[in-house]
Amino acid sequence: MQQLDITKLKYDRSGLIPAIVQDYATREVLMVAYMNQEAVEKTLTTLETWFWSRSRQKFWHKGESSGNVQKVREIYHDCDKDTLLVLVDQKGAACHEGYYSCFHYRINRDCTVEIVGEQQFDPDEVYGKISENKEQAKETVPTAGAGVLDELYGVILDRKEKMPEGAYTSYLFDKGLDKILKKVGEESAEVILAAKNKDKHELVKESADLLYHLLVMLAEQGVMPGEVFAELKQRRK
Ligand code: AMP
Ligand code: ZN
Ligand code: ZN
Repeated sequence: MQQLDITKLKYDRSGLIPAIVQDYATREVLMVAYMNQEAVEKTLTTLETWFWSRSRQKFWHKGESSGNVQKVREIYHDCDKDTLLVLVDQKGAACHEGYYSCFHYRINRDCTVEIVGEQQFDPDEVYGKISENKEQAKETVPTAGAGVLDELYGVILDRKEKMPEGAYTSYLFDKGLDKILKKVGEESAEVILAAKNKDKHELVKESADLLYHLLVMLAEQGVMPGEVFAELKQRRK
């Protein structure tokens, strides 16, 4: 028998080697992820899969948040040592979208895509609602609830009363209803465009613009946001 020196595996420039994860019993391909040398070591010693998450730039013990761990049965390297094949017993499903295999999108010749296989769990339930977004939001945005709308409305009313020079809100009230309505229309269109482009960052900014102009319009019309909230609340019954 030969001895493998795991430092001699062919890691790429980022120190990573792709690992194909396959179901031990059925040989179904479950997922592909990347290991660095330390992840290979951790996988060999714990006999559960460890990867290096390129998106999160940290070690990723598969199943750490979902419980869907992979028990390692066998590991192979290929002929030129640049790819690993890991045979596992998969608990639950391998894909964070709830499918047993990550490869559940079948591409047809005309490039239409069909989902093959059954979703075994609701990702929202297993990972928490848009867990990734939530984590990001926690790090970057101070928590604000709908209360900020009341606060902002207060500022808008103050501007309307005092009309301080140089304030954009004063400018809107000075121009009058038609200008405000035009802005509401424009911002709505920009929200739609951002959503169509699947640009979350832009969608957040444009939604904020729309809400602001909507509040200016309500102030111009003498409607309090509380009346809108009450209407929404009443419909929930
Ligand atoms: P888990 O390792 O299943 O607890 O999932 C932890 C995080 O890793 C999830 O929030 C996903 O973002 C990601 N993840 C889990 N499984 C996969 C997968 N098969 N492919 C890509 N990302 C995954
Ligand atoms: Zn190879
Ligand atoms: Zn997946």
